[in-house]
Amino acid sequence: MRHEQRSSAATPHVIQGEPPLRKQPRPRCALCGHFSGVLHTGLHDRLFGAAGTWDLVSCTNPGCGLVWLDPMPSDRELGKAYEAYPTHAATAPRATPLNRMYGAIRDGYLKRRYGYHQGTGPRWLRHLAPLVWLHPAGPERFGASAMFLRAPSPGARLLDIGCGNGMMLLRLQALGWDAEGIDADAEAVKAAQASGAHARHGTLAAGDYPNDYFDAILVNHVLEHVPDPLQLLTYCRQILRPGGSLVVITPNTDSWGCRRFGRNWRGFECPRHLYLFNVRSLGCTARKAGLIPSTLNTLAKGADHILSMSRFLERHENTGTPVADRKYRVSGMAYLTGERLLRLWNTSVGEELLMIATK
Ligand SMILES: [Zn+2]
Repeated sequence: MRHEQRSSAATPHVIQGEPPLRKQPRPRCALCGHFSGVLHTGLHDRLFGAAGTWDLVSCTNPGCGLVWLDPMPSDRELGKAYEAYPTHAATAPRATPLNRMYGAIRDGYLKRRYGYHQGTGPRWLRHLAPLVWLHPAGPERFGASAMFLRAPSPGARLLDIGCGNGMMLLRLQALGWDAEGIDADAEAVKAAQASGAHARHGTLAAGDYPNDYFDAILVNHVLEHVPDPLQLLTYCRQILRPGGSLVVITPNTDSWGCRRFGRNWRGFECPRHLYLFNVRSLGCTARKAGLIPSTLNTLAKGADHILSMSRFLERHENTGTPVADRKYRVSGMAYLTGERLLRLWNTSVGEELLMIATK
Protein backbone atom coordinates (compact mmCIF):
# COMPACT_ATOMS: atom_id res chain seq x y z
CA MET A 1 0.00 0.00 0.00
CA ARG A 2 1.40 3.42 -0.99
CA HIS A 3 2.16 5.77 1.89
CA GLU A 4 2.18 9.58 1.79
CA GLN A 5 3.71 12.27 3.98
CA ARG A 6 1.35 14.00 6.39
CA SER A 7 0.67 17.43 4.94
CA SER A 8 0.02 20.76 6.60
CA ALA A 9 -3.46 20.58 5.01
CA ALA A 10 -4.42 18.26 7.88
CA THR A 11 -5.43 21.18 10.08
CA PRO A 12 -8.59 20.65 12.08
CA HIS A 13 -11.73 21.07 9.98
CA VAL A 14 -14.69 21.82 12.20
CA ILE A 15 -18.29 21.66 11.02
CA GLN A 16 -19.65 25.06 12.03
CA GLY A 17 -20.88 25.17 15.60
CA GLU A 18 -19.62 21.68 16.53
CA PRO A 19 -16.51 21.20 18.71
CA PRO A 20 -14.08 18.60 17.30
CA LEU A 21 -14.14 15.13 18.87
CA ARG A 22 -11.37 14.41 21.37
CA LYS A 23 -8.76 12.12 19.88
CA GLN A 24 -6.25 9.54 21.06
CA PRO A 25 -3.05 8.62 19.16
CA ARG A 26 -2.65 5.10 17.71
CA PRO A 27 0.89 5.12 16.26
CA ARG A 28 1.41 1.35 16.13
CA CYS A 29 -0.44 -1.52 14.46
CA ALA A 30 -2.81 -3.23 16.90
CA LEU A 31 -2.12 -6.60 15.22
CA CYS A 32 1.64 -6.82 14.62
CA GLY A 33 3.08 -3.77 16.46
CA HIS A 34 4.73 -2.24 13.37
CA PHE A 35 4.70 1.53 12.84
CA SER A 36 2.24 3.06 10.42
CA GLY A 37 2.57 4.98 7.17
CA VAL A 38 0.11 7.72 6.20
CA LEU A 39 -2.48 6.68 3.64
CA HIS A 40 -4.80 9.72 3.39
CA THR A 41 -4.74 13.00 5.30
CA GLY A 42 -7.34 15.69 5.97
CA LEU A 43 -10.43 13.48 5.63
CA HIS A 44 -13.71 14.64 7.09
CA ASP A 45 -17.19 13.17 7.45
CA ARG A 46 -18.94 14.04 4.20
CA LEU A 47 -21.87 11.71 4.84
CA PHE A 48 -23.26 12.66 8.24
CA GLY A 49 -21.30 15.78 9.21
CA ALA A 50 -19.45 14.65 12.38
CA ALA A 51 -16.91 17.29 13.44
CA GLY A 52 -13.17 16.93 12.91
CA THR A 53 -10.47 16.13 10.37
CA TRP A 54 -8.96 12.66 10.21
CA ASP A 55 -5.90 10.83 8.93
CA LEU A 56 -5.93 7.21 7.79
CA VAL A 57 -2.76 5.17 8.21
CA SER A 58 -1.80 1.62 7.27
CA CYS A 59 0.61 -0.89 8.73
CA THR A 60 4.08 -0.78 7.14
CA ASN A 61 4.43 -4.56 7.52
CA PRO A 62 3.69 -5.88 4.01
CA GLY A 63 2.39 -9.13 5.51
CA CYS A 64 -0.27 -7.31 7.59
CA GLY A 65 -2.24 -4.59 5.77
CA LEU A 66 -4.34 -3.22 8.68
CA VAL A 67 -5.68 0.33 8.09
CA TRP A 68 -6.82 2.58 10.94
CA LEU A 69 -7.53 6.15 12.04
CA ASP A 70 -4.60 7.83 13.78
CA PRO A 71 -5.50 9.62 15.94
CA MET A 72 -8.83 7.93 16.67
CA PRO A 73 -11.90 9.41 18.42
CA SER A 74 -11.53 8.75 22.14
CA ASP A 75 -13.76 5.93 23.42
CA ARG A 76 -15.96 8.33 25.45
CA GLU A 77 -16.62 10.55 22.42
CA LEU A 78 -17.38 7.85 19.86
CA GLY A 79 -21.13 8.36 20.29
CA LYS A 80 -20.82 11.91 18.88
CA ALA A 81 -19.77 10.45 15.52
CA TYR A 82 -23.23 8.86 15.28
CA GLU A 83 -25.40 11.84 16.21
CA ALA A 84 -26.63 12.39 12.64
CA TYR A 85 -26.41 8.71 11.69
CA PRO A 86 -29.80 7.63 10.30
CA THR A 87 -31.90 4.93 11.95
CA HIS A 88 -33.93 3.09 9.36
CA ALA A 89 -37.25 1.50 10.24
CA ALA A 90 -37.71 -2.04 8.94
CA THR A 91 -39.88 -2.00 5.84
CA ALA A 92 -41.21 -5.00 3.96
CA PRO A 93 -40.52 -4.93 0.20
CA ARG A 94 -43.48 -3.92 -1.97
CA ALA A 95 -45.37 -6.91 -3.38
CA THR A 96 -44.64 -6.15 -7.05
CA PRO A 97 -44.49 -9.08 -9.51
CA LEU A 98 -40.72 -8.54 -9.85
CA ASN A 99 -40.19 -8.64 -6.07
CA ARG A 100 -42.34 -11.79 -5.78
CA MET A 101 -40.26 -13.46 -8.48
CA TYR A 102 -37.04 -12.38 -6.70
CA GLY A 103 -38.36 -13.85 -3.43
CA ALA A 104 -39.28 -17.16 -5.08
CA ILE A 105 -35.83 -17.50 -6.69
CA ARG A 106 -34.16 -16.59 -3.35
CA ASP A 107 -36.21 -19.19 -1.47
CA GLY A 108 -35.46 -21.83 -4.10
CA TYR A 109 -31.75 -21.06 -3.86
CA LEU A 110 -31.76 -21.21 -0.03
CA LYS A 111 -33.42 -24.64 -0.20
CA ARG A 112 -31.03 -26.05 -2.75
CA ARG A 113 -27.72 -24.46 -1.70
CA TYR A 114 -28.15 -24.13 2.09
CA GLY A 115 -30.74 -26.83 2.91
CA TYR A 116 -33.53 -24.56 4.21
CA HIS A 117 -37.10 -25.93 4.37
CA GLN A 118 -38.78 -23.73 6.99
CA GLY A 119 -39.83 -20.29 5.75
CA THR A 120 -38.94 -20.92 2.11
CA GLY A 121 -42.24 -21.93 0.52
CA PRO A 122 -43.11 -25.09 -1.45
CA ARG A 123 -40.51 -27.70 -2.40
CA TRP A 124 -40.77 -27.11 -6.16
CA LEU A 125 -39.17 -23.65 -5.77
CA ARG A 126 -35.78 -25.37 -5.60
CA HIS A 127 -35.98 -25.77 -9.39
CA LEU A 128 -35.74 -21.96 -9.68
CA ALA A 129 -32.33 -21.86 -7.94
CA PRO A 130 -30.21 -21.69 -11.14
CA LEU A 131 -31.95 -18.41 -12.01
CA VAL A 132 -29.77 -16.66 -9.39
CA TRP A 133 -27.10 -16.46 -12.10
CA LEU A 134 -29.32 -14.07 -14.07
CA HIS A 135 -29.09 -11.43 -11.30
CA PRO A 136 -26.27 -8.86 -11.80
CA ALA A 137 -24.95 -9.67 -8.29
CA GLY A 138 -25.14 -13.46 -8.90
CA PRO A 139 -25.60 -16.03 -6.10
CA GLU A 140 -23.84 -13.88 -3.46
CA ARG A 141 -26.78 -11.57 -2.88
CA PHE A 142 -29.13 -14.54 -2.38
CA GLY A 143 -26.70 -16.37 -0.08
CA ALA A 144 -26.31 -13.17 1.96
CA SER A 145 -30.04 -13.25 2.74
CA ALA A 146 -29.22 -16.17 5.10
CA MET A 147 -25.75 -14.80 5.91
CA PHE A 148 -24.23 -17.81 4.10
CA LEU A 149 -25.33 -20.10 6.95
CA ARG A 150 -26.65 -23.61 6.37
CA ALA A 151 -30.12 -24.45 7.72
CA PRO A 152 -30.04 -24.80 11.54
CA SER A 153 -30.82 -27.86 13.60
CA PRO A 154 -33.93 -27.42 15.83
CA GLY A 155 -33.37 -24.84 18.60
CA ALA A 156 -30.06 -23.55 17.19
CA ARG A 157 -29.21 -20.15 18.72
CA LEU A 158 -27.95 -17.16 16.74
CA LEU A 159 -26.69 -13.74 17.91
CA ASP A 160 -26.63 -10.74 15.55
CA ILE A 161 -24.18 -8.17 16.98
CA GLY A 162 -25.22 -4.73 15.71
CA CYS A 163 -28.65 -5.96 14.61
CA GLY A 164 -29.91 -2.47 13.63
CA ASN A 165 -33.61 -2.42 12.76
CA GLY A 166 -33.81 -6.23 13.04
CA MET A 167 -34.56 -7.03 9.40
CA MET A 168 -31.97 -9.81 9.31
CA LEU A 169 -33.14 -11.14 12.69
CA LEU A 170 -36.72 -11.43 11.41
CA ARG A 171 -35.56 -13.19 8.26
CA LEU A 172 -33.42 -15.68 10.18
CA GLN A 173 -36.19 -16.29 12.73
CA ALA A 174 -38.51 -17.16 9.82
CA LEU A 175 -35.86 -19.56 8.52
CA GLY A 176 -35.85 -21.48 11.81
CA TRP A 177 -33.09 -19.84 13.85
CA ASP A 178 -33.65 -18.97 17.53
CA ALA A 179 -32.26 -15.50 16.74
CA GLU A 180 -31.56 -12.56 19.02
CA GLY A 181 -29.70 -9.29 18.52
CA ILE A 182 -28.01 -6.43 20.32
CA ASP A 183 -27.40 -2.86 19.10
CA ALA A 184 -26.12 0.39 20.62
CA ASP A 185 -28.73 2.44 18.71
CA ALA A 186 -31.83 2.75 20.93
CA GLU A 187 -34.08 3.92 18.06
CA ALA A 188 -33.03 1.00 15.85
CA VAL A 189 -33.73 -1.45 18.67
CA LYS A 190 -37.20 0.06 19.22
CA ALA A 191 -37.91 -0.42 15.50
CA ALA A 192 -36.65 -4.01 15.68
CA GLN A 193 -38.79 -4.81 18.72
CA ALA A 194 -41.87 -3.19 17.11
CA SER A 195 -41.51 -5.49 14.12
CA GLY A 196 -41.28 -8.58 16.36
CA ALA A 197 -37.53 -9.18 16.46
CA HIS A 198 -35.86 -10.33 19.68
CA ALA A 199 -33.44 -7.40 20.12
CA ARG A 200 -31.98 -5.54 23.09
CA HIS A 201 -30.31 -2.17 23.46
CA GLY A 202 -26.72 -1.98 24.70
CA THR A 203 -23.16 -2.97 23.98
CA LEU A 204 -21.56 -6.35 24.54
CA ALA A 205 -19.94 -6.87 27.91
CA ALA A 206 -18.20 -9.82 29.51
CA GLY A 207 -20.71 -12.10 31.20
CA ASP A 208 -23.67 -11.12 28.99
CA TYR A 209 -23.89 -14.64 27.59
CA PRO A 210 -22.71 -18.07 28.78
CA ASN A 211 -19.60 -19.60 27.22
CA ASP A 212 -20.12 -22.00 24.27
CA TYR A 213 -23.69 -20.74 23.89
CA PHE A 214 -24.40 -19.71 20.27
CA ASP A 215 -24.47 -21.90 17.19
CA ALA A 216 -23.93 -18.84 14.98
CA ILE A 217 -22.80 -15.23 15.54
CA LEU A 218 -23.10 -12.44 12.97
CA VAL A 219 -20.75 -9.44 12.87
CA ASN A 220 -22.13 -7.77 9.74
CA HIS A 221 -20.55 -4.36 9.04
CA VAL A 222 -19.73 -3.93 12.73
CA LEU A 223 -16.03 -4.89 13.10
CA GLU A 224 -14.89 -1.67 11.38
CA HIS A 225 -16.83 0.41 13.95
CA VAL A 226 -15.38 -0.98 17.20
CA PRO A 227 -12.30 0.44 18.99
CA ASP A 228 -10.89 -3.05 19.65
CA PRO A 229 -11.77 -5.58 16.90
CA LEU A 230 -9.51 -8.26 18.41
CA GLN A 231 -11.31 -8.01 21.74
CA LEU A 232 -14.70 -8.36 19.99
CA LEU A 233 -13.66 -11.47 18.06
CA THR A 234 -12.08 -12.96 21.20
CA TYR A 235 -15.41 -12.51 23.03
CA CYS A 236 -17.24 -14.03 20.06
CA ARG A 237 -14.97 -17.06 20.27
CA GLN A 238 -15.80 -17.42 23.96
CA ILE A 239 -19.59 -17.47 23.48
CA LEU A 240 -19.55 -19.49 20.23
CA ARG A 241 -20.09 -23.20 20.76
CA PRO A 242 -17.42 -25.58 19.36
CA GLY A 243 -18.36 -26.28 15.75
CA GLY A 244 -20.49 -23.11 15.52
CA SER A 245 -19.99 -20.42 12.86
CA LEU A 246 -18.93 -16.81 13.23
CA VAL A 247 -19.80 -14.79 10.09
CA VAL A 248 -17.99 -11.47 9.56
CA ILE A 249 -18.64 -9.05 6.69
CA THR A 250 -16.62 -5.82 6.54
CA PRO A 251 -15.23 -3.43 3.87
CA ASN A 252 -12.15 -4.59 1.94
CA THR A 253 -9.22 -2.15 1.54
CA ASP A 254 -7.79 -4.22 -1.34
CA SER A 255 -11.00 -3.74 -3.34
CA TRP A 256 -11.28 -2.30 -6.82
CA GLY A 257 -13.28 0.64 -5.43
CA CYS A 258 -10.65 1.49 -2.78
CA ARG A 259 -7.93 1.53 -5.44
CA ARG A 260 -10.03 3.40 -8.01
CA PHE A 261 -11.54 6.10 -5.74
CA GLY A 262 -8.79 6.51 -3.11
CA ARG A 263 -9.80 9.01 -0.42
CA ASN A 264 -13.35 9.17 -1.85
CA TRP A 265 -14.01 5.45 -1.35
CA ARG A 266 -17.32 5.02 0.49
CA GLY A 267 -15.84 2.28 2.69
CA PHE A 268 -13.57 4.69 4.60
CA GLU A 269 -16.47 6.55 6.29
CA CYS A 270 -14.42 8.62 8.77
CA PRO A 271 -14.70 8.85 11.74
CA ARG A 272 -17.10 5.92 12.28
CA HIS A 273 -14.89 3.31 10.59
CA LEU A 274 -11.96 2.98 13.01
CA TYR A 275 -10.23 -0.13 11.61
CA LEU A 276 -10.35 -1.48 8.05
CA PHE A 277 -9.13 -4.83 6.80
CA ASN A 278 -8.00 -6.87 3.83
CA VAL A 279 -7.89 -10.67 3.57
CA ARG A 280 -4.53 -10.87 5.40
CA SER A 281 -5.33 -8.59 8.33
CA LEU A 282 -8.82 -10.04 8.88
CA GLY A 283 -7.43 -13.60 8.87
CA CYS A 284 -4.68 -12.50 11.28
CA THR A 285 -7.20 -10.90 13.66
CA ALA A 286 -9.31 -14.07 13.66
CA ARG A 287 -6.36 -16.36 14.35
CA LYS A 288 -5.12 -14.09 17.17
CA ALA A 289 -8.62 -14.40 18.67
CA GLY A 290 -8.30 -18.20 18.57
CA LEU A 291 -10.66 -18.68 15.63
CA ILE A 292 -10.12 -20.84 12.55
CA PRO A 293 -11.31 -19.22 9.29
CA SER A 294 -12.95 -21.79 7.01
CA THR A 295 -14.01 -19.19 4.41
CA LEU A 296 -12.05 -15.97 3.80
CA ASN A 297 -12.71 -14.24 0.51
CA THR A 298 -14.26 -11.13 -1.01
CA LEU A 299 -17.81 -10.28 -2.12
CA ALA A 300 -18.84 -8.07 -5.05
CA LYS A 301 -22.53 -7.99 -4.08
CA GLY A 302 -22.30 -4.44 -2.66
CA ALA A 303 -20.33 -2.95 -5.55
CA ASP A 304 -23.36 -1.20 -7.08
CA HIS A 305 -24.02 0.80 -3.90
CA ILE A 306 -20.43 1.34 -2.71
CA LEU A 307 -18.99 2.35 -6.08
CA SER A 308 -21.81 4.64 -7.16
CA MET A 309 -21.62 6.37 -3.74
CA SER A 310 -17.82 6.69 -4.14
CA ARG A 311 -18.32 8.22 -7.59
CA PHE A 312 -20.74 10.73 -6.08
CA LEU A 313 -18.24 11.64 -3.34
CA GLU A 314 -15.52 12.08 -5.96
CA ARG A 315 -17.67 14.49 -7.96
CA HIS A 316 -19.17 16.50 -5.10
CA GLU A 317 -17.08 18.38 -2.59
CA ASN A 318 -19.80 19.05 -0.05
CA THR A 319 -21.42 16.85 2.56
CA GLY A 320 -24.34 14.91 1.17
CA THR A 321 -25.59 11.52 0.13
CA PRO A 322 -26.50 10.65 -3.44
CA VAL A 323 -30.11 10.43 -4.44
CA ALA A 324 -31.00 6.91 -5.58
CA ASP A 325 -31.97 8.10 -9.05
CA ARG A 326 -31.93 6.22 -12.34
CA LYS A 327 -28.44 7.51 -13.27
CA TYR A 328 -26.86 6.01 -10.13
CA ARG A 329 -28.82 2.77 -10.46
CA VAL A 330 -27.49 2.33 -14.02
CA SER A 331 -23.90 3.17 -13.06
CA GLY A 332 -24.26 0.88 -10.02
CA MET A 333 -25.24 -2.08 -12.21
CA ALA A 334 -22.27 -1.32 -14.51
CA TYR A 335 -19.87 -1.26 -11.52
CA LEU A 336 -21.34 -4.48 -10.16
CA THR A 337 -20.91 -6.30 -13.48
CA GLY A 338 -17.40 -4.86 -13.90
CA GLU A 339 -16.30 -5.97 -10.44
CA ARG A 340 -17.66 -9.49 -10.91
CA LEU A 341 -15.69 -9.77 -14.18
CA LEU A 342 -12.51 -8.39 -12.54
CA ARG A 343 -12.84 -10.88 -9.73
CA LEU A 344 -12.64 -13.77 -12.20
CA TRP A 345 -8.89 -13.17 -12.47
CA ASN A 346 -8.22 -11.40 -9.13
CA THR A 347 -10.32 -12.74 -6.27
CA SER A 348 -9.22 -9.97 -3.85
CA VAL A 349 -11.00 -7.04 -5.58
CA GLY A 350 -14.52 -7.42 -4.08
CA GLU A 351 -15.78 -4.44 -2.05
CA GLU A 352 -16.51 -6.54 1.05
CA LEU A 353 -14.70 -9.29 2.93
CA LEU A 354 -16.56 -12.42 4.00
CA MET A 355 -15.09 -14.56 6.75
CA ILE A 356 -16.74 -17.64 8.24
CA ALA A 357 -14.77 -18.96 11.21
CA THR A 358 -15.11 -21.73 13.77
CA LYS A 359 -13.28 -22.55 16.99
ZN1 LIG B 1 0.32 -4.73 11.21
